[in-house]
Amino acid sequence: MAGQQNYKKFISYYKPHKKLFILDMLSALVIAAIDLVYPMLSRQVLNDYLPTSDKTLRPFLIFIGALLLMYVVRSAFQFIVDYWGHILGVRMEYDMRKELFNHLQKLSFKYYDKTRTGHIMSRMINDLNEMTELAHHGPEDLFLSIIMLVGSFIAMLMIQWKLALAIYLFIPILVWFAIKQRTKMSNGFKEVKKSMAGINADLESSISGIRVAKSFANENYEIDKFDKGNMIFRGSKNIAYKTMAIFMLGMSFMTNSLHVVALGFGGFLIYKGEMSYTDLIAFTLYINNFLIPIRRLTSFVQQYESGMAGFERFMEIMATEPEIMDSENAIELKNIKGDIRFEDVVFSYNNHETVLDGINLEVTPGHTLAIVGPSGGGKTTLCHLIPRFYEVDGGRISIDGIDIRDVTMASLRTNIGLVSQDIFLFAGTVRENIQYGRTGASDEEIIEAAKNAEIHDFIMGLEEGYDTLVGERGLRLSGGQKQRISIARVFLKNPPILILDEATSALDNETELKVQQALEKLSKGRTSLVIAHRLSTIKNADEILVITENGIEEKGNHETLLNNNQLYSKLYHAQFKGYIPDEL
Ligand code: ADP
Ligand code: MG
Repeated sequence: MAGQQNYKKFISYYKPHKKLFILDMLSALVIAAIDLVYPMLSRQVLNDYLPTSDKTLRPFLIFIGALLLMYVVRSAFQFIVDYWGHILGVRMEYDMRKELFNHLQKLSFKYYDKTRTGHIMSRMINDLNEMTELAHHGPEDLFLSIIMLVGSFIAMLMIQWKLALAIYLFIPILVWFAIKQRTKMSNGFKEVKKSMAGINADLESSISGIRVAKSFANENYEIDKFDKGNMIFRGSKNIAYKTMAIFMLGMSFMTNSLHVVALGFGGFLIYKGEMSYTDLIAFTLYINNFLIPIRRLTSFVQQYESGMAGFERFMEIMATEPEIMDSENAIELKNIKGDIRFEDVVFSYNNHETVLDGINLEVTPGHTLAIVGPSGGGKTTLCHLIPRFYEVDGGRISIDGIDIRDVTMASLRTNIGLVSQDIFLFAGTVRENIQYGRTGASDEEIIEAAKNAEIHDFIMGLEEGYDTLVGERGLRLSGGQKQRISIARVFLKNPPILILDEATSALDNETELKVQQALEKLSKGRTSLVIAHRLSTIKNADEILVITENGIEEKGNHETLLNNNQLYSKLYHAQFKGYIPDEL
């Protein structure tokens, strides 16, 4: 059932390119027709137009000229099939890749939590590539092959039915061998692909971790580890090429012996006077017309298998519904004051381990709420619920009294600026990375944002200024510099609500000071939610919540909490006795 649906869906990708498809098929038809008449025509030229004592050379030459012309025409159609046929496949691949990418953009955090990047990459590159091959060659091969098989079948019967039947006896054996060997071969190459994926994963992990490997002087360990995968890859290729060689050997032996049988039995029939030399020549040419489609059909079977398998994997992603979507009557969240409220919020990632259990809190517009608590207590999770990265399981979160599930995600997220500890810079220039905050922003606005984020002077000191490339993962910048670029992004975005999730915890004291200054500027006039493990940075917050695995343990401003003499004051004093734990 699912298979049939996929099949229909696959066909549907031809629809926008109907004209190209028809052009391709018609050209294939012309090619098949020419290939089918050629042996007949060559027999005729030998029978009727050879120059003899009472025939001139002229008609013979004209006929040969005409045949040459026919092949010029055939070449033109061959070009159409080879060029435009591939273009058809390429256009379909483009459509699919575009749809897949669009769909990937819609999928939510939960999907990416459980999916490996490498897998998505292989869908996007390998699977789609194989589908293109099938999309283009599939119908063409199938169509051409059937016409050629049927056509040459009839032609051979017409020339000499006894010889034709003798040849047909071979066909089932040939087809059986071809399909069996092809299957073995394709299984072999599937293993090659699998081990290739293994090598890719190993390589990715080793190269990303090369600095760690070096610091532990573990290069040899890495070399041995990589060698294992490389050996498996080599082994799988050995097997695959062996099956391929056996296939080639069998096929060439059988096709060649088919010619010998035709020659032998045909010669006998000529001797018996049941057939002429020219018949035998034409017959031999038809044998080729017969063998080529058989090869094509067997390759089609294999192509179909791997192409459809790729398409199924493609459809698997396409059929994954984004977990979080705009509700039907979603409104735009605009001109907000920034009153954030959690009411009895319950959340778990996996439906059994509850991370947040009945959280109630409120951030007054323009104020700063700080959250502290031990690692793993759920602070980041709480932050991620506000932009609806994940959906609450119970209770509700509202902004200015409006449930966040009733507003469009785009407008909700436009109103929120998130600065976290993990900074991601896209491969590109510094300018592009800041502009990411608001894609239409002008150069002046970008510079202003960089000034506000205390990073402008640094950027101007770079050789290429704002046009400096920040490597693959922004490797050439320090943590503090990267963080200030990410802060400049948020300045540019200028959202009324700000969430800072341990924005300074990965930085050393010196750079932290600069980042801290930038963040203070950034939070001015905005409703802010600040998570910090260094308590000195949140002393001035309007309110402080202490969250542990048991929920909200304490609540109040710095002074009240210190006077409470509970968890907060203990932790605060511990930090300022010179003992600063990594995590609170
Ligand atoms: P904090 O920010 O306070 O250190 P987190 O919100 O990151 O805590 O984590 C709270 C709990 O949720 C932890 O037990 C953590 O293992 C779990 N958790 C965090 N992110 C995910 C995720 N994407 N999928 C599943 N569990 C998660
Ligand atoms: Mg966290």
